[in-house]
Amino acid sequence: MMERIIFHVDVNNAFLSWSAIEMLKAGSKVDIRNIPAVVGGDESKRRGIVVAKSMPAKKAGIKTGEPLYMARRKVDNLFVVQTNKESYVKYSKAFYNILCKYSPVVERYSIDECFLDMTGMEMLHGNMLELAYKIKDEIKNTLGFTVNVGIGNCKLCAKMASDFEKPDKVHTLFKNEVKEKMWPLNVDDLFMVGKSSSAKLHEMGINTIEDLAKADVNVLITRFKSMGMMMHNYANGIDDSLVEKPVPKNQGIGHSTTLPNDVDNLSDLRKVLYKLASMVGMRLRNEGKYATVVSVQLKNNVFFSYQHQKTLINPISSNEDIYDVACELLKVMWKKDPIRLVGLRVSDFTDKTYEQISLFEDFNKKEKRDKIQKALDEINKKYGNDTIKSASLYEKKEN
Ligand SMILES: [Mg+2]
Repeated sequence: MMERIIFHVDVNNAFLSWSAIEMLKAGSKVDIRNIPAVVGGDESKRRGIVVAKSMPAKKAGIKTGEPLYMARRKVDNLFVVQTNKESYVKYSKAFYNILCKYSPVVERYSIDECFLDMTGMEMLHGNMLELAYKIKDEIKNTLGFTVNVGIGNCKLCAKMASDFEKPDKVHTLFKNEVKEKMWPLNVDDLFMVGKSSSAKLHEMGINTIEDLAKADVNVLITRFKSMGMMMHNYANGIDDSLVEKPVPKNQGIGHSTTLPNDVDNLSDLRKVLYKLASMVGMRLRNEGKYATVVSVQLKNNVFFSYQHQKTLINPISSNEDIYDVACELLKVMWKKDPIRLVGLRVSDFTDKTYEQISLFEDFNKKEKRDKIQKALDEINKKYGNDTIKSASLYEKKEN
């Protein structure tokens, strides 16, 4: 199998940089990146904390998250600028648009971070390291702020790499570099290792990423459940999640639900999907549409969110068809981690189902399902939702 090439592009000190640029554009004579300055929440609304800080402010000992009044004590004439969400969204979009020129698969991971799948792009773009420098410089020259680019064979490694020395740098963390570049780091630096996990790991004598990579995975699973497996994989540079282009929100019908308790078994997750499929399906049919893309989103107990989607040959609209595809996606994507939120979305609509003969789908079966669904909808409309459900949904074997 071809090794994947993933870029993770991360804006350096995004909010402070973006505020600086906005001020310069408005005619400011100072660049707040070069003086002791912070971006802070609104003090009048009691959100007066440091959201971001310049390098000189950092050198003065100012910390992100501390109250502004404390930060002011550390520096005379500290320059405080309010967060400006509108301009942040504008720069985030401009940043994303530049990245989209270089890969068809760009995932917006957060307001100032994107993943790019660059696998197989050497033919088009040439040397990947040179390309990373080109992208980094293009952003700096056209938008005025710096980024770090991390390159790896998976998302985890790319993300870890972009976090090495900052700012305005390109780093690689390829498979064969994991031992040399990542293992010496403190286990706290590993993506997804939060404060509570890190305390427990140190207690167990696991201090570096190398310790974690070499730890007995069964011990980790006993202590951390599914997170233990994930951490062990990450420490070994293993992460097979895909860079995924998100479905634009306004282009689909979707529902998501936050679960009252974390769910970590397949049959309960399927039940949630069934509910969501009924809600989504009903709205879809009310609009007289058929969908050709189904996507499922999962968010786990540490708020790590991932999604998977499938494009169909034949458009669908019945609950059962939507549910089937959703279950297929679930099976492929679910990492056995405790799930807190499940989302289901259908998109890429057509008005009619194609009369297309597919070797892989039984069209007659589908047509029959659509007819049954229509009858069910009519009964439910007349007598109230959920009067009749398609029994087979509950009897589906877990294969
Ligand atoms: Mg950043």
